[in-house]
Formats: sequence, C-alpha cells, structure tokens
Amino acid sequence: MSNLSHVSTRFDASSDRDYRMLIDGEWVTAQSGETFRCVDPYEDREWGRIPSAGAEDVDRAVRAARRAFDSGGWPQTPPAQRAALLRRLGDLIEQHADELARIQIQENGKLIGEMSRGTFMLGAHARYVAGLVENLHGETIETGFPNMSTSTVREPLGVVAAVTPWNTPLGLLAWKLFPALGAGCTLVIKPSEVTPTSTLRLAELCMQAGFPPGVVNVLTGYGQTAGAPLVAHPGVDKIAFTGSTQGGRAMLKSAADRIGRVTLELGGKSPNIVFKDADIDNAVHGAMAGIFAATGQTCMGGSRLLVEDSIYDEFTRRLAAAAETLRLGDPLDPTTEVGPLACRAQLGKVLEYIDIGKSEGARLLAGGYRDHASATRAGFFVRPTVFADVDNRSRLAQEEIFGPVVAAIRFTDEAEAVALANDVDFGLAAAVWTRDSALAQRMARRLRAGTVWVNTYRMVHHTMPFGGFKQSGLGRELGPHALDEYTETKSIWIDLGNRQTFGRR
Ligand code: NAD
Repeated sequence: MSNLSHVSTRFDASSDRDYRMLIDGEWVTAQSGETFRCVDPYEDREWGRIPSAGAEDVDRAVRAARRAFDSGGWPQTPPAQRAALLRRLGDLIEQHADELARIQIQENGKLIGEMSRGTFMLGAHARYVAGLVENLHGETIETGFPNMSTSTVREPLGVVAAVTPWNTPLGLLAWKLFPALGAGCTLVIKPSEVTPTSTLRLAELCMQAGFPPGVVNVLTGYGQTAGAPLVAHPGVDKIAFTGSTQGGRAMLKSAADRIGRVTLELGGKSPNIVFKDADIDNAVHGAMAGIFAATGQTCMGGSRLLVEDSIYDEFTRRLAAAAETLRLGDPLDPTTEVGPLACRAQLGKVLEYIDIGKSEGARLLAGGYRDHASATRAGFFVRPTVFADVDNRSRLAQEEIFGPVVAAIRFTDEAEAVALANDVDFGLAAAVWTRDSALAQRMARRLRAGTVWVNTYRMVHHTMPFGGFKQSGLGRELGPHALDEYTETKSIWIDLGNRQTFGRR
C-alpha cells in the first residue's frame, strides 16, 4: 500500500482546470455552458471541468466533419500524404506516451506498466496503418466481356462517429482513428464521460501533426445527451463503437433508418479452459492474468474459468490462494498488481454481482468485498474474487461483470468443455491450456469466439484482427484489413467501343 507522501505527489494539479472540446479546429465550450467533472478512482477525487455537449454541439461538430469531407480536401489528399501525417502522429504519441498514460490513469486507474506500454505501442500502430494506406488500391478485373474495362476503386466512407469506452481510452480510439484517417474519412469522436481528457490531449496532437481543421472533432459528454444525438445524426455515415452490448444495440437501432455503416466491439464472457495435462503453474498465472489484469475491466477478460474435473479442486484452491496475495494499490506505483475500478458506478456493479453470485449458491473462495487499498481509503477497490462451483446457466456465469470476479466451472471431457464454452451469448475470446497440440487445435476451431489463445491470454497486436462472434460485436478492427471498415468499394465499367443494343434496336 502506498504511503501518504507518495499520494500527495501523485495527483497532477494542473489537470484541475476548464477543458474545451475540439470542433472544426477550434477549442470550444458546450453551447449550453454546462460542464461535468472527472474523478480519480484511486482517491475518489474530483478534478477538471469538462464541457457537457448537447444536440446543438453535436450538430456543429457533424457539420464541420461533413464540410471537411464533402469539400474533398481530406478524402482527396494523396494517400502518401495521409500516411505521412499518420506517421507524424505516431511519433508524437511516442514522444508524449508517458504524459498520455498518466492522464488515462488519473481518469481510470489502470496500472502504469500496462498503460505506458500500450500507449507507446500506438506509435508503431499508427505507422503500420500508414503502410496499409500506401498499399490501398483497387483491382483490375477480367469479366470476359469483349472491349470492356472493369476495375474497382476504394473510396473513403465519409463521416465517422467514433464512440469509445473508458477502460483503454486511447488504444480503443486508435483502432478507429488511424484507419479512418488513413482511408480519408473525417471523424467526430465521443469519448466516455469517465475518460474525456486523454482523448482531448490526443486530438491536440492530431492538430499538431497537421491534420486539417474539421477532420478530427471531439465532443465530450454523456452517452444520452452527446452520444445518442451524434449516432442519430443524418450527417454521420458510419458508427464505430466500442462499449457494452446494450450500447451496441442502441447503435444498430440508430443506424437502421439510414442504413448507416456500423462496427461494434462489445462485451464478453470469455471461457478460459484448463485441461488436466496443462502446465498448472503456467495456467494458474494465465487464469490470474485473464481476469485480474486491468482489474477485470477488459472486454476479453477470462471471466469463466472452465477446469477439468480431476484437477478442479486443486486448481481453484491454488488460484484462490494466489488471488489472496495480490497487491492492491496506487496504479502509479510499479509494484502494484491490481488497481481500482474505474468509477463509482463500476464499483457498485461489481459488488452487486458478488451478491448475486452468493445468492445463486456459488462457493466464494477468495475476495468478495470492497477493499481499502488507497492511503485515503476512498478508492474504488474490490478484492480479487474467485467463485467455485458456478452453474454455467447462472447470471454469474452468463452476464458480463467487467471486474475482478472469476466464475470457476467444472467439466469432464473435451465435448463438455466445448459445449459449456459456447453456451453463452458472447463470443469475443477464449483460451485453452493444454500440452496436447492436437487437442489445442481442435478446440481452437470449435470455440465460437473472435480470438482463441493457446497457453497464453490477452495477447493483442495491431497486426492481428480483433472482434467478436455473436453478441460480442460486428466487424473486425486491427490487422491487414483494418481499412476495409472505412472504405467503400466502387466497381467501374468502361465500354471501349461496343454499340448499345436494346430489344430489336
Ligand atoms: P458503455 O456502452 O456504457 O459506453 C460506451 C460509450 O458509449 C461511452 O462513450 C458512452 O458515453 C456511450 N454511450 C452510452 N450509451 C449511449 C447511447 N445510447 N448512444 C450513444 N452513445 C452512448 O460502455 P462502457 O461502460 O464505457 O465500457 C465498458 C464496456 O465496453 C464493456 O461492456 C466492455 O466489454 C466493452 N468493451 C469492449 C471492447 C471490445 O473490443 N470488444 C473493448 C473494451 C470495452
């Protein structure tokens, strides 16, 4: 636990000020003048006054993005130039990675090690997308019709509304921002109300990199008052959303009337499956990394731990013992292993699910209570929690908690492992722990999830596609095809001299 002198220096006092949103290259307040406050989850301390955007601000921002797109300036900027700006942005992010990481930590309490690494990596990600942009091309296609030239071109989709969550504010924004900019789209970004200022700082770096006014706009505010009018705006061509499955449904409904394009990265209840022949030490660490990293506030969290019958008791006992020793504390202290939950609402939700687990008859092996790991005793901490003997059909096993709570479930053979793993509405990720490579490969193919890991957990890289099966999402982000979600393919037919005929003419 951190001592008081450490606490008194950890807060960046300069962040306690008035912020502005970015519309059309200008830093503005909300037209209503309304603001809201951020909260440092380690100390439950309010800071900053952030504009609370409403429908009138949304309209202004979408019009700005529309103008920047429809004028043709940005979409027709040569790909090499768009790529050059992305590279410059990547370099700026790397130079400011420590600052950007600290802002996010003050917003959501994620640990310094993971946040710094992840933010620094966005530089390489931007450069990777720049390479894709330089290689973006249509095709010449042979139809077999005589005297006919047939080809495709790739054109930018238009105005993108990027709506993002609080758990990895800049990483999950980058998944949308880089390919959208690279493809020639313009954006209106609505970050989570829990983590707005990191996105504002990134937008400042976009301006510094040289993206023209109106290409990147940021509206800060709440989901209902800023997000909902944004995604319903007729000037928006595409919604790129990361957030809850409930939020995803709202996005689809908003886009339905205008057949708007949508990509969704939603929730999960991912199975982490341990077979009896696994390297048990490794699998125990993998189970902990799966659910306790980022305090369980990760869409891909291994929240359902499926363990083969013959090792179940021993495995869950060892996991519970290890969980009890995890060191909770200041996210800026590099020796901390588990940070706070990101906000008060999340604290309430996690504690509520712990009660649900108990009332459903699951056996509590570790944790299960609010902890007071900050020196001020006010932070949003929950002790890492392990439930055993969980019924896969119970709410504890079926609903996303988004916290450090794992539900351990017993299985007897491969067929039952597959059945239990797939018996859920989500399909974001899954992991298998075994030394049997044929078993691993069979499982990898039978699991209904967008990502399957074998003998590892929570690996993500900008070169590998990421997205969900079932109610975990729609479309894929990252990887070599990331630009597909931000372009339309146009087919062009040019007759090279055939005469037109119709009926007997
Ligand atoms: P959330 O759905 O509550 O909010 C996400 C964003 O949508 C926020 O900016 C919010 O203000 C906005 N929003 C909410 N309701 C809206 C509405 N009706 N119209 C327009 N905008 C609206 O999610 P959250 O609590 O910020 O994030 C946690 C969720 O995100 C979890 O379910 C998690 O699994 C998911 N997530 C998924 C991935 C992934 O890649 N699949 C990654 C991270 C988080």
